[in-house]
Amino acid sequence: MAHRPSRSLLSLLCFAASVAAQSPFANTPHPLAQDRSQGAASVSVADCKQWLGTLASPEFEGRQTGQPGFQKAADFVADHFRKLDLQARGPASSYFQTVPWSATKVDAEKTFVSFETGGKEVLRVPADRLTGAASAALSTSGAVVLLVIEAPEVTGTGRNMQLPKIAGLDELEIENKVVVVYVRPRADQRAAETLAKFAVRQGLAGKNPAAVLFAQDATPAGGITGRSGAGRRAGNPAIAGARRSPLDVTFGGNDLLAMLKAGGQDASVLTGTAMTPSFSLEAKVEVALTEGQAPAMNVWAVLPGTDPQLKDEYVVVGSHLDHVGMRGGLHPGADDDASGTTGVMAVSTMFVKNKIKPKRSILFVCFCGEEDGLIGSDFFAKNCPVPLSSIVGELQMDMIGRDEEENREGDRGEKAEDNRTSLHLIGTQKLAPALHELCIAKNEAAGFSLEYDQEGMFSRSDHANFAKMGVPIAFFFTGLHKDYHETTDTPDKIHFEKLLRVATYVYDIAFDLANEPGRPEIEPELWAKYRGKAAETPAAPLKGGAPTKDDATKGGGK
Ligand SMILES: [Zn+2]
Repeated sequence: MAHRPSRSLLSLLCFAASVAAQSPFANTPHPLAQDRSQGAASVSVADCKQWLGTLASPEFEGRQTGQPGFQKAADFVADHFRKLDLQARGPASSYFQTVPWSATKVDAEKTFVSFETGGKEVLRVPADRLTGAASAALSTSGAVVLLVIEAPEVTGTGRNMQLPKIAGLDELEIENKVVVVYVRPRADQRAAETLAKFAVRQGLAGKNPAAVLFAQDATPAGGITGRSGAGRRAGNPAIAGARRSPLDVTFGGNDLLAMLKAGGQDASVLTGTAMTPSFSLEAKVEVALTEGQAPAMNVWAVLPGTDPQLKDEYVVVGSHLDHVGMRGGLHPGADDDASGTTGVMAVSTMFVKNKIKPKRSILFVCFCGEEDGLIGSDFFAKNCPVPLSSIVGELQMDMIGRDEEENREGDRGEKAEDNRTSLHLIGTQKLAPALHELCIAKNEAAGFSLEYDQEGMFSRSDHANFAKMGVPIAFFFTGLHKDYHETTDTPDKIHFEKLLRVATYVYDIAFDLANEPGRPEIEPELWAKYRGKAAETPAAPLKGGAPTKDDATKGGGK
């Protein structure tokens, strides 16, 4: 009996068939110059499907920087570079530039919360019956203050969520005490509990409690995780608050009932009106951590140029390798940014497979820590393995696999079917007009309907760390969509023919940048009005031959 495909598989196949069949790029050629067409022809849609499918696979766990899934993705890309025999210039001839990313691991053996009365331990809650996160070790004890709070109603949404004020916290005397907070949840508002917990933390900050613990009805699972990474997402109080406080630990279930009993109370106190019911118990909080470097590296490789002079100049082709991981379920990040990393894998293959090699060198790099605040590319630009002044341009691919549509905020009225051939060109008019003109010229063959209405996204990807140093950049972006940063950003929704067309377009632009005698120069007026620059003089040459940054540091002479 032939296997009858299941309903969901059927709708998936129809969707895939409609996408593939109807791609305008499938039927329109992308004519490239003779000297580079061989390379362009070396990568197929099938290759892109295979690479992206691997990057967005559950095995890579959403590629969060600092987590094992990211290490797997980094090894996968490094392996690709190795197979292409690209130069590995990292330490120990690796393709990695390690980015400082501390990871704290909880030592479960030495981590627990215990309760005592009359100097005798009456309850011990081991690490596997606790949940939360810790970024600093702790060894403390004190009398327990039980705090029973009703979660206030949440006002505002998203970034406009208002932090509730919890009455009565100011009057609390909790110096050197262990505060156990029980927040009565609101069935109608899940966020209320999180915000109430944060409001309690804020309210108790500065009162020097020995520790603040949370208690809940259910027995927690998941243990206490260490923290890794750096950077902070602006405006989200819950995350900012968690980073500010060293310990976020919750216990519950039978352990909560046992604690209440040991302190002379029972469960009725949790539904009572008393904010601080009488309670007599001592607590000890022990959190032991081990600190280490988490998997966080920029993955980079070099195709050396052939020209004796120009080989010391570089065209950088970049993407970010990381995504948001398993926060609230697997986030495959097929478009963000497995599509761009697939683009880097495609462009590197094209250059290697092309018989004619470039005069300037090509540096391929997939950054880490982008989702945490462009951390990897900031580190790369500040610890650049090649002189910044030698970089003639950074070509960044971030989200190049979809057709722009309404995003979550629903503010753009875009429809995917209207954007089958659209591509945003971002940042090319900010520094070096010659690079912009080159992109426009190369689009003759690529055939995109180029759009310029997403300049607001300029600071949202890794190229920004190069631009602020005065390196010309071009950011390629197909647009936002409903699946942005959702668990639904999956490979089946990728417009692969478009992805490959973008990669081939970037290859064509890079080929010219690598072979033209001149390099894009920074327009002095543009540099003068460039906001957020991180250098007095730009790394790339200013039009009209003003001295570059390196000349300035080398006392002005080449
Ligand atoms: Zn991205």
